[in-house]
Amino acid sequence: MSDYVNELMSQVRKKNPSEPEFHQAVQEVVESLKHVLDKHPEYRSAKILERIVEPERVILFRVPWVDDQDEIHVNRGFRVEMNSAIGPYKGGLRFHPSVNLGILKFLAFEQVFKNSLTTLPIGGGKGGSDFDPKGKSDNEVMRFCQSFMNELYRHIGPDTDVPAGDIGVGGREIGFLFGQYKKLRNEFTGVFTGKGLNWGGSLIRPEATGYGAVYFAAEMLATRNETLEGKTCLVSGSGNVAQYTVEKLLDFGGKAVTLSDSTGYIYDEEGIGREKLEYVKHLKNVKRGRIKEYAGKYSNAVYADADQNADHNPIWDYKAECAFPGATENEINEKDAQNLLKNGVYVVSEGANMPTTSEGVDLLIQEKILFGPGKAANAGGVAVSGLEMAQNSQRLPWTRDEVDKRLQLIMKNIHETCVEVADRFGTPGNYVNGANIAGFLKVADAMLDQGVV
Ligand code: NDP
Repeated sequence: MSDYVNELMSQVRKKNPSEPEFHQAVQEVVESLKHVLDKHPEYRSAKILERIVEPERVILFRVPWVDDQDEIHVNRGFRVEMNSAIGPYKGGLRFHPSVNLGILKFLAFEQVFKNSLTTLPIGGGKGGSDFDPKGKSDNEVMRFCQSFMNELYRHIGPDTDVPAGDIGVGGREIGFLFGQYKKLRNEFTGVFTGKGLNWGGSLIRPEATGYGAVYFAAEMLATRNETLEGKTCLVSGSGNVAQYTVEKLLDFGGKAVTLSDSTGYIYDEEGIGREKLEYVKHLKNVKRGRIKEYAGKYSNAVYADADQNADHNPIWDYKAECAFPGATENEINEKDAQNLLKNGVYVVSEGANMPTTSEGVDLLIQEKILFGPGKAANAGGVAVSGLEMAQNSQRLPWTRDEVDKRLQLIMKNIHETCVEVADRFGTPGNYVNGANIAGFLKVADAMLDQGVV
C-alpha cells in the first residue's frame, strides 16, 4: 500500500508544484488512509483518492479597487470549490498578503474532511485574496469587498457555495460582501455565514471556533478523568479564534497566559482575565491595533517582537499544561513541539488550520499526548455555520443556549467519532487518524454512490 501512496504523492507534487502546504495537507491524510485502503479496495479501484485531491473547480479573478488617495490597486481573488459530494461547498474567505492558490487548496482540502466530521450536509471549499485589510480605512475595505463580490457572486449561492470568514475576514468584511451580493442578485438569501445578528446571523457563530476548540480539549482531558480547571494554557493569535478560546477557558477555570499577532507576542503570568480579554477584543476588533499595546496597558506582561529568522517560536517555550494554537499554519515546528513537551504541555487543541508541521505532529503523537488536530478541534466554527444555514432555511433564529448546546454536542460527537475510528483502524488514541479516516469515509462513500463525476 505504501507504493500506491508514494506514487500518488509524487503525482500530487508533480501536478501542483510550488504548493508545499497543499502537499503537506494531502500527505497527512493519505498517511492515515493507509489503514483504510487495504480493507477497502473499492476506493482504490474507483480512484477516489486521485479524484479527491483534484478541486472540482477553481476560480481565479482580478480584483481592482481604488484607495482613498484615488490610486488604483489590483489584487487576486480566488475560490477553490473542492468537493460537493455531501453538500454545497462551504468554507471561509481569507484576506491576507500570504494568500495564494496553494494555501487555499490546502485549506479547501482540509475543509472537506472537517465538514464531513461535523455530520452536517456540507461540502468543502475555501477562497480569499492577497489583499491586506490591515491599515486600510473602512471605505477602502468596503470598495475592495464590493469589487471582490462583483466577480464572486456568479459562482456562489445558498445551494451551491456558501462562504464565511477566516483570517482578515470578520463581521465588517462579511457585511460588505453580503451587501454587494444582495444588490447584484436582488435576493436576500443565506449565501454567507457569520452574518450580523439582525440580518440572518446565528448567535454563537463568532464564538464557535474558539469555544469548540476548548470543548474538544475538555473532551480529550475527560478521557483521563481530568478537567481544564486550574490548567495554564498557551494561546496564539489574538483574532476571532484566540479571543473566544480565552473566553471559554475562563468559563472552565483555565488560565490563558499568552496571545500573539504577526508582529509579536505577549506573556502575562497572572493570566488574561475577563477585563483584560475585553481590552484585547476592543484593541483588535474596534481599534484594530497591535498586541504590543497590551504590554503597555498591563505592565506585568512582557512583549517580544516576532523574529522571522528564529528557528523556533518563543510563545511555545513557557511552562503550561495546554496549548491552543489559534493564529495560522505551521506555527509549531519540531523544535516548538520539543519545547512544549519539555515545559509540561500534554494537551494541544488546534484552533488554527494545520498550525503544526508534519514533524511536530509526529513528535506529539509519538509522545502520546492529547493532540486534537484542527480538522476535529476547530470544526465548531463550520458546525455553527451549518446551524446558521439551517436557521436561514427555516427563517427562524435559535436562542444562544440552543446553539451552544448543539455546538457542545457536535464537539462531543466529533471527539467520540475520532476515538472510535482511531481504535477501529488499529491506532488507539491517534486523533489525527481518527479525524482523517472518519472524514474521508463519508465523502468517499458518497462519491462512490454518485458515479464518476
Ligand atoms: P483573525 O484574522 O481573526 O486572527 C488571526 C490572528 O492570527 C491574528 O492575531 C493575526 O495577527 C494572526 N496571524 C495571521 N497570520 C499570521 C502569520 N502569518 N503569522 C503570525 N500571526 C498571524 O483570524 P481567525 O482567528 O478567524 O483565524 C485564525 C486561524 O483559525 C486560521 O488558521 C483560520 O484558518 C483558523 N480557523 C478559523 C475559523 C473561524 O471561524 N474564524 C474556523 C476554523 C479555523 P495579525 O492581525 O497581525 O495578522
